[in-house]
Amino acid sequence: MLSLVWFQRDLRVQDHPGLVWAAGQGAVLPVYVVEPDLWAQPEAAARHHAFLEECLTGLRADLARAGQPLVLRAGDAVEVLSRLHGKHGFSQLVTLDAPSTAWSRARDRRVADWARSRGLAWAVLPQPIHGAPLPAPALPPVTEGTGALPGLRALGLTEDRCPFRQPGGRAAGEQTLEAFLSARAQGYARGRATLTGAERTGSRLSAYLAWGVLSVREVLDAARARRTEDNAQGLRAFAAQLARRTVAALPDPGVPADVDPARLAAWQGGETGLPFVDAAMRALAATGWLNARTRGLVASVGCHHLGLDWRVVGARLARLSTDFDPALHGAAMRAVAGTDTAPRVPDPVAVGRQQALDGAFIRRWVPELAPVPEAHLHTPWCWPGARGLRYPEPIVDPASAARAARAAIRARQTSPRAPRPVLVEPLPMRAQGRQMALDLRAPG
Ligand SMILES: Cc1cc2nc3c(=O)[nH]c(=O)nc-3n(C[C@H](O)[C@H](O)[C@H](O)COP(=O)(O)OP(=O)(O)OC[C@H]3O[C@@H](n4cnc5c(N)ncnc54)[C@H](O)[C@@H]3O)c2cc1C
Repeated sequence: MLSLVWFQRDLRVQDHPGLVWAAGQGAVLPVYVVEPDLWAQPEAAARHHAFLEECLTGLRADLARAGQPLVLRAGDAVEVLSRLHGKHGFSQLVTLDAPSTAWSRARDRRVADWARSRGLAWAVLPQPIHGAPLPAPALPPVTEGTGALPGLRALGLTEDRCPFRQPGGRAAGEQTLEAFLSARAQGYARGRATLTGAERTGSRLSAYLAWGVLSVREVLDAARARRTEDNAQGLRAFAAQLARRTVAALPDPGVPADVDPARLAAWQGGETGLPFVDAAMRALAATGWLNARTRGLVASVGCHHLGLDWRVVGARLARLSTDFDPALHGAAMRAVAGTDTAPRVPDPVAVGRQQALDGAFIRRWVPELAPVPEAHLHTPWCWPGARGLRYPEPIVDPASAARAARAAIRARQTSPRAPRPVLVEPLPMRAQGRQMALDLRAPG
């Protein structure tokens, strides 16, 4: 029997339950579909394309070593699958469970209809986090051309400089995990409270987990094997963070309202006149990463202090984050914006002081503030020499903007017209492949 294993956010051959299951039944056609419609979503960015390209290069090599190289095709998923089915007549489609968005659910409904019309089963396998990780299976060869990733222009993406982006690919993911377990993990529990601490001691595994280059189970298994007296507390805190990952289905966010383009440009470009927020946005643009507390702060300033639509803020943050993960990002943005519950509106000056323990982070990313003494670094507008700076006045007064935002939130909550929380749609028919009672323990 021939199975088509459709790789999505699971770009690995190790600990891949779908690949192991399909290989146990016969030959496998491993396919990645580059969907132009997905790349046209407002969250997509060139840095994701670059990271993906490096991941696919590694995946292709790993699959080739296993016996059957990756088949890469660009186009609408149904059309690509249909063409491959016409040529190879595979008898089932296999995917791993993945977070779903309104876009992916609509795509999946079309794929499910097509599969049903061809009498094909579609098996969606869970990604367990307990037990031993699965080794890569051996794959008998199937004759099919490999194909290439379309360039930025073909996907409607514009160049996006991210000079300190984490490299993509399994080897880079393994190196990051090794460096974390052998050194940084010791300071993880204390370090994660601040941005400067998280830069030094954080795992930095988010992009590799978001694209599925490493499985959560592999990471937990490696952490267990490397636990020592010195890093035990750090690894416990790390496991608790990993447990927050989710593959939930996100509701349709709806259509964003118009936003003030000058405010949006100032926020995104790190020119709001609020030093910590600007430093963080510039750091995110250049590295593709921020710790959770700082991401929450810049998102909150965009939504609340500057009054920008949360969907626009969310899409811009997603584009800047190498680790963009639709489920984690969508859920975090809904919490920041307060779509379903009352949000907190943090004070950017107070959070900045707490996150950047000394002035080094702000001075690194906002060199215009070099002449400002340490005591005024978070509030340069209070410094008598501020007039001579080549740095903007704050776009809003942070205290009064926060008060106005809190008042608007209270009014929204007490208003009889307050929107009701949107219920998460149940997952569609993806799991309508075979009912599976699988034993996915590693052989031997
Ligand atoms: C507005 C906003 C948007 C976010 N968008 C993303 C995103 O698109 N992709 C993403 O991976 N994370 C996102 N996060 C969560 C968090 O910021 C990152 O996971 C973290 O900063 C990544 O750094 P790290 O790998 O060193 O994490 P560590 O602190 O070492 O944590 C280990 C792992 O746990 C998971 N994790 C950590 N924090 C959270 C959390 N709050 N919720 C769920 N899982 C978590 C991640 O997989 C992370 O790699 C977002 C947070 C906020 C507030």
